[in-house]
Amino acid sequence: MDPKEAGTKAATLREELNYHSYRYYVLDDPVISDEEYDSMMRELMSIEEEHPELVTPDSPTRRVGAPPSDAFQPIQHRVRMMSLDNVFDAQELTAFIRRVESQVGEADYICELKIDGAGIALTYEDGVLVRGATRGDGITGEDVTGNLKTVKALPLRLLNEDAVPYLEIRGEVFMPKASFLRLNGQREELGQAPFANPRNAAAGSLRQLDPRVTASRHLDLICYEIGYMEGREFATHKEVLEQIASWGFHVSEHWRTAADAADIVDFCDEWISKREELAYEVDGAVIKVNRLDLRDRLGATSKAPRWAVAFKFPAEEKTTRLLDIVINVGRTGALTPTAILEPVFVGGSTVSRATLHNEDEVRRKGVKIGDMVLVHKAGDVIPEVIKPITELRDGTERDFVMPAQCPACGGKVYHPEGEVVARCINVDCPARLFESVLHFASRGAMDIEGLGPATIKELMDRGFVSTVEDIYYLGEEQLYSLNGFKDKSVANLTGSIAGSRERPLSRLLYALGIRHVGSHVAEVLAGRFPSMDRLAAAGEEELREISEVGPAIAASVKAFFEEPRNLQLIRRLKEAGVNMEGEVEEGPQTLAGLTFVLTGGLESMTREEARLAIEERGGRVSSSVSRKTDYVVAGSDPGSKYDKARELNVKIIAEGDFLTMLQDQDGKGAKGER
Ligand code: NAD
Repeated sequence: MDPKEAGTKAATLREELNYHSYRYYVLDDPVISDEEYDSMMRELMSIEEEHPELVTPDSPTRRVGAPPSDAFQPIQHRVRMMSLDNVFDAQELTAFIRRVESQVGEADYICELKIDGAGIALTYEDGVLVRGATRGDGITGEDVTGNLKTVKALPLRLLNEDAVPYLEIRGEVFMPKASFLRLNGQREELGQAPFANPRNAAAGSLRQLDPRVTASRHLDLICYEIGYMEGREFATHKEVLEQIASWGFHVSEHWRTAADAADIVDFCDEWISKREELAYEVDGAVIKVNRLDLRDRLGATSKAPRWAVAFKFPAEEKTTRLLDIVINVGRTGALTPTAILEPVFVGGSTVSRATLHNEDEVRRKGVKIGDMVLVHKAGDVIPEVIKPITELRDGTERDFVMPAQCPACGGKVYHPEGEVVARCINVDCPARLFESVLHFASRGAMDIEGLGPATIKELMDRGFVSTVEDIYYLGEEQLYSLNGFKDKSVANLTGSIAGSRERPLSRLLYALGIRHVGSHVAEVLAGRFPSMDRLAAAGEEELREISEVGPAIAASVKAFFEEPRNLQLIRRLKEAGVNMEGEVEEGPQTLAGLTFVLTGGLESMTREEARLAIEERGGRVSSSVSRKTDYVVAGSDPGSKYDKARELNVKIIAEGDFLTMLQDQDGKGAKGER
C-alpha cells in the first residue's frame, strides 16, 4: 500500500472504529459483531505498524474504551485500567511468550477465563467499600457505587481485613446467561430492543441512573486483580488470587498455573469445548505472568500490559442458507418474521429457526430469502442471524414482504406509524388463541403439565377450546377423544388442570398475558394488591405509584380490566375455582397521597426498606424535592435535597418522626421542621 492510500485507509478505519466503539462503550448497543470490529482494528494496527508516521495519539489502537459519560461523577483511577492485547491461536501465543521471556527470562503463568462483562475497580478504605467505578477510558471512570452495591456478590466490607488501609480490587461485573435471557424476554414484551449480548447488557445495567433498575438485572461479579494497595506486598499473582478470595470476593474457581505454551494451549482447548457449561459467557482466556516483579519489569504499552494477553476463543459462528421467512403470530397479535434455516450445528445445538423480530430488523440486516447467512447464538443461547453474505448471492434471492393479511386468520394487519411491530387485531385469531393458551399453561405461568402445543392444537381443531378459560371446562369424554389419550393421560391432564387452580395470584397475572406484565411485574403487582378484584379496581394513578410500574404498564393493566371480554375471562376463571387471592394482606393506606423524599443515611433501615415501608402504606417516594413533596426524611449527612427542602419550605422530618409516622394509624402525625 502506498503512503497516500494507507493514509486514507487508516483515516477511514479510525472513523469507523471510533463510531463503533461509541456505540459499544457509550450506548451499549453495537451494530457490528466483535469479529468485524477486531478485524478492522487489526487492519489499522498493521497499517500503523508499516507506516508509523500515520499514528495519531487518539488512534483507537492506542486508546482504552471510551471517555466516561457526564451522567456519573468522574473518578480518576489511581492506576490506569488497561485493555488486553489479543492473540488468536497457538502461534501468536508462542510469540507472546517469546517476547516476555526474551525480556525477563523464563517465567511461569496463570491462565484465567476471560469473563465477558464490564471491568470495574472497587476501592476499600480500612476494609470498607467506599467507591466503585467503571473503567471508562482507563484514566477516568464513572462512579457507579450505588449501582454496584446492588450486586449481591460484592462484599461491602472485607473479611479478614488484617490492616489494609487502602485497597483497590479489579473485577468483572457480568450478567449470567439466565438473567440475560430473562431480561431480553422482558424487553421484548415491553417493545424495547433486546441487548445484543450479555456484555453490553451488563455494561448498560451498571450505568443506569436508578440503582433499582440495576438491582432488577441480577448482575454478578468475579474478581481477578489488585489495582493498588497499601499495607501488604505479594510476590505472585497466585498469592493475589488466594488473598482476594479470602477477603470474601468471588474468584473464579477455574484458574490454573501453566509452565509453558503447551500448558496454556491445553487450558484454552479445554475451555473452548467446555465454555457452554458455564453460567456466564467467556470470550477467551487471560494469560498472565505469575511473578509480580517480572510484571514490573515488563511494564505496559499505552493500551495494555506487556505481562498479560487475551487468548480469544473462536466465536461460534456458522454459515447456512436462509430458506424462508415465515410469520409467527404471537398472543398479542404481534407478527414476527422468523427465519427458517437449513439446520446447522452452532453453539452446542442444531439451529433451524431464528427470530428476525420485525420488519425493520429484516431491512436493517439486509437479508433476503435464499441468502447464505452468518448465524450464532446470542448470549450462547438465542439463535440469531447476524448478516447475509452478499458475495455469495446469485440473483435468485427474494426480498421479504410483510403480508397485509394475517397468515393465520386472514384478518387485516395493523401497522401503526412509528411502531416497529405489525399486529393482527382480530381477537378471535386462532394463532393468537393458540399462543395465549400455550403461554397460560407454560411452566412460569399456570404450569399445566401435559397441555403442550400438540394437545392445544387438537383441542382447538375439535372446537373444545375456543377461549383460554375453556380449558377449565373440559369434560373427560372430550379428553378421551383426543389422539392417543387413555386412562393415564386423561387422569394426568385432568389432575394438572385441577392443580393449576391453586397457583399464586402472581402466576395467574402473568398467565393472562397482559401487555407489559411479565413474570417480574406480575410479582410486583401481586405483592401489592391482595386480590384480582382489588387490582382490577385500581386506578392508573394508584398503579403508577408503585415503583417498577411505569406509565406504559399502568395504562396496559387498566385497559385490560376495562375490556368486557377480559372481565368475562376473569369471571369464568373465578367460577371454575381458579385462585384470585394474593398472599399479601393490604395494610391500612395511612400514607396515601403523600410524597416523600429520602436523604442521608437512616439508622434503623436501609433506604430501600424505607421506600417499601412508605409504598406499602400507599405513599410515594420521589428522587427529587419539589413543591409537591410533602416530607423530606433527613437521615445522617443529608445531601443537597435537605437544602432544597429548606429553600422550598418543604417539611423536613428526622428518622424518629418518620418511624412514628409509619406506626401511626392516621399517618399524618409528624411535626418536622420547615
Ligand atoms: P477486552 O474486553 O477484550 O479485554 C480487556 C478486559 O477484559 C479488561 O478490561 C477486563 O475488564 C476484562 N477481563 C475479563 N476477565 C478478565 C481476567 N480474568 N483478567 C483480566 N481482565 C479480564 O478489551 P476491551 O478493550 O474492553 O474491548 C475490546 C473488545 O470489545 C474487542 O474484543 C472488541 O471486539 C469489542 N468491541 C466491539 C465493538 C463492536 O462494535 N462490536 C466495539 C468496540 C469493542
